[in-house]
This record gives sequence, structure tokens and C-alpha cells, in this order.
Amino acid sequence: MNSIDKLAELFQQFPGIGKRQARRFVYFLLHKDNGYIGQLLNEISAIKQQINQCQSCFRFYPKDTKIECPICIQHKESGHLMIVEKDADLENIHKTGLYDGKYFVLGGFIASHEKKRSYASVDQLLARIECDVQAKKIDELIFGLSISPEAEHTRLRLYSMIHEKYPDLVFSTLGRGLSTGTELEYSDTETLKYALGSRIKQN
Ligand SMILES: [Zn+2]
Repeated sequence: MNSIDKLAELFQQFPGIGKRQARRFVYFLLHKDNGYIGQLLNEISAIKQQINQCQSCFRFYPKDTKIECPICIQHKESGHLMIVEKDADLENIHKTGLYDGKYFVLGGFIASHEKKRSYASVDQLLARIECDVQAKKIDELIFGLSISPEAEHTRLRLYSMIHEKYPDLVFSTLGRGLSTGTELEYSDTETLKYALGSRIKQN
């Protein structure tokens, strides 16, 4: 395997990147000068050293001395915990300022096919909920997932798992101001405001 193939194979592991796009990235890099390549290499090697993963919500944030991120510290006393798929969804909801509860970044969905790999941090989520229940700092669990078959499958699986263990928790799902296929990451403030305000409770 030559260097082009090797690098393309690494790019292919990026989310949503296929074989052809991966090769386009490699050729793009071949056209760039050494300054750009050097900067890219520096940033890639710095990212693990400078960015922390919060041990409460599992989002990534610029490293400091604490083990929890500023959002977790600020909203520690809230009884609301929102489950989102990824960091970009959390950031989009957080920047609207409409939600002042806690978050948990799932990191992916539960695979609906046994053969597919599941990226969701289910064990970490269950541990987080147990911890919040013990501390009496949770009363509502909000599913803030995008609308897709995988997200729905994940929501139902999590709901049955968690509801069985904690029947007193209130469960809710963001209202359907979001249309099918909507990515939370790209939803505007008005849509999110409606989705939060019209969240559907189930129990
Ligand atoms: Zn956090």
C-alpha cells in the first residue's frame, strides 16, 4: 500500500467520509505547501493535550484543572438532564440560552442491527443517571435527539432501560417543531425554542 492509500484509509474513518472523498482530501493535501501541512500536524498533535473530555457530560472542552466542564459546574443543581447525540448538538442548544439544565453527550446511536457497531456511551449514561439519582439532582430526562430511525430506536431502547430502573423519573422528548431528518446541530433558535417549549412527556 502506498502513502496515498494509507492516508486515504485514515480519512475514511472520519464520520460520513467515503472512499472517494477520502482520496480527495489526500490530493488536496498534496497541493498544499509545507507551512499548511506543518500547521495541520501541530494542531492534530495538540488536540489531545489541550482538550479534555468532561467526566460528567462527556463533551470536549479546552482543558483546565477541573474534571468537569464549565456547563456542568454551572448547572450542577438543575434537575433536568438532556441527552444529545454529539457535541455540536449541545453547543447549538446551549448557545440559544433557552435551556439551563444539564447535558449528556451520547456520542452516537445504539445500532439497530446487531452487526453494526454501536457508538453510544450507554454504560456511562446509566452511571451518570445513577449518580444524579443518588444525589437527588434529577427529576426529568429529556431526549434531545435528532429525528431519524436510528435516533428513535436509541430513544426507545434507552427509555425502556432507564424507565424500568427509575420509574419515578419524568421522561420527555423535544417537541416536533423539528421535522423528520432534522439535525439538531443545524436547527435555528426559533425551532429549538418551540421544540423545548412543546416537549412531550411520557410515563
Ligand atoms: Zn460537562
